Amino acid sequence: MTNMERTTCLVVGGGPAGMVLGLLMARAGIEVTVLEKHKDFLRDFRGDTVHTSTQNLIDELGLGPRFAQVPHRRIETMRMQFDEGAITVADMRRLPGAHPYIALVPQWDFLDVLADAAAEEPTFTLRRNAEVIDVVRDGDRVVGVRYRDRVAGTEHEIRATLTVACDGRGSAVRAAAGLAPRSFGVPMDVWWFRLSRRDGDPVGGVGRISTGQMCVMIDRGDYWQCAYLIRKGSDGELRAAGIEELRRRFAALLPWMADRMAELESFDQVSLLDVQLNRLRRWDLDGLLLIGDAAHAMSPVGGVGINLAVADAVAAARILAPALRSGGIVPRSLLHRVQRRRLLPTAIIQGVQRAAHKGLFGQIMRDEPTQLPHTATAAGMADAVIPDAPLESLPLPLRLLQRFPVLQGLPARLVSIGPLPEHAPEWARRPATPART
Ligand SMILES: Cc1cc2nc3c(=O)[nH]c(=O)nc-3n(C[C@H](O)[C@H](O)[C@H](O)COP(=O)(O)OP(=O)(O)OC[C@H]3O[C@@H](n4cnc5c(N)ncnc54)[C@H](O)[C@@H]3O)c2cc1C
Repeated sequence: MTNMERTTCLVVGGGPAGMVLGLLMARAGIEVTVLEKHKDFLRDFRGDTVHTSTQNLIDELGLGPRFAQVPHRRIETMRMQFDEGAITVADMRRLPGAHPYIALVPQWDFLDVLADAAAEEPTFTLRRNAEVIDVVRDGDRVVGVRYRDRVAGTEHEIRATLTVACDGRGSAVRAAAGLAPRSFGVPMDVWWFRLSRRDGDPVGGVGRISTGQMCVMIDRGDYWQCAYLIRKGSDGELRAAGIEELRRRFAALLPWMADRMAELESFDQVSLLDVQLNRLRRWDLDGLLLIGDAAHAMSPVGGVGINLAVADAVAAARILAPALRSGGIVPRSLLHRVQRRRLLPTAIIQGVQRAAHKGLFGQIMRDEPTQLPHTATAAGMADAVIPDAPLESLPLPLRLLQRFPVLQGLPARLVSIGPLPEHAPEWARRPATPART
């Protein structure tokens, strides 16, 4: 163990929750240190969606021009393709404001925008390669953490007035603090791999559902980030069936991708993402707050976890910064106000995800995949020309969405704005700063 450091607000984890919290605390003039275990933000698995409410927040923080400079794609409508044809489930163009769309941005670029802005504040420190391994207590109170410098191999202790765990679904802080979330059933895991993207491919996102299988693809410019859903816990058994079986299934789902399936040479290119849906009963201890996935892991359904994590961070900064600025210990009752503020939107979204897990996703994962004919579509097809599914083949809610398109604004609002969007406190706002060249 080497030297001991001190800060006012210690943020563990530099994901969406941690970086937004770090930036806002620094703009409040509070000494804040973010510990991030990786050396950069460049990891393959990061959700890529930046929703309307997060884009509005970025504008309020004066970062709109910088964010606009990051190459991104827009999702204006969400279409799902079934065997019978395609349906539109959400139409973001019906949303109010400057950003009636979801921006698809590699998350490392989004985090870099936040990190650059935070680095302009004199009270902000981001320490990379710093992996938290334990909490430090004084009696029952959490007073900091122990972390390992992954480059030097040394261990350090850092003490803080407040520690905020933003270290995601596998939160080391949560485990060290002895907290365990309540888990809700999840029927699926996700295989995650890349395939090249070619001229004439659809733009934005692609979703495809068939009996017993489903995939989603995110447009990252010159390649597709592909997610193929598998039954929870079936990774080993499916890998044993060989990569050829995955290639065959994927090409049958999306025949216009068949010409590039040979790019998947082995399962080394396929990562398993363990899907979880859970929530802590209490998000705080004396001296410690947990937010984002560390407090409530989100399923990928609807792609809303980043939005919620960011909203938690904004609420936490607004509620806690005044107390931290005035010095002294932050009472637990004040920490608990963050959970009181964010519990309802979290529970609503998790409720929708649980219903989707039980219904549509549960059904897909229960069924055995059927052999699909290779006739549905041609290479180079844009999603606009995928024929609409006949209305009579759809369940009532989907039929209503197709018959009255104005209703497509409701799922768009739930996904892209969400219940109780958070806005930047006055003290965190800045005039728009021009993009740096
Ligand atoms: C398969 C899948 C796909 C998803 N796709 C989307 C999507 O498209 N859009 C969307 O909005 N949501 C998506 N989600 C959900 C989303 O990823 C999370 O809800 C969101 O990332 C939570 O943000 P966070 O900041 O709380 O945690 P994270 O994003 O998990 O960030 C945690 C950070 O803490 C760091 N860290 C971890 N442990 C330590 C440690 N011990 N010490 C220091 N640092 C540590 C990590 O390196 C990471 O940077 C998806 C989830 C899954 C499972």
